[in-house]
Amino acid sequence: MTRIKVGDEVVVISGKDTGKRGKVLKKLPKEDRIMIEGINMVKRHVRPTRRGQASGIVEGEAPMHASKVALICSRCGKRTRIGMKTLREEGQLRFCKKCGEVID
Ligand SMILES: [Zn+2]
Repeated sequence: MTRIKVGDEVVVISGKDTGKRGKVLKKLPKEDRIMIEGINMVKRHVRPTRRGQASGIVEGEAPMHASKVALICSRCGKRTRIGMKTLREEGQLRFCKKCGEVID
């Protein structure tokens, strides 16, 4: 299971959006997928559900596998891996494996 959370800034490391950055919008833990702002955009055909609502094609984010992204550390700004450490006071915390700083 990924240690990435909603609100994290991530970079895509594989697939058509490689190198693009975005903020995590949503997590789908069961599928190990995440939705990232502006990444993995797909066009969907929509049918009007209410009167006056336009039908047509809308573009939106589609969830992608969490293994295809890496976290950008908010402290050192580098692409990194997330480590976990347990502190007596705060409990389990995530930290950047590059600079060692606690992420949250
Ligand atoms: Zn860092």
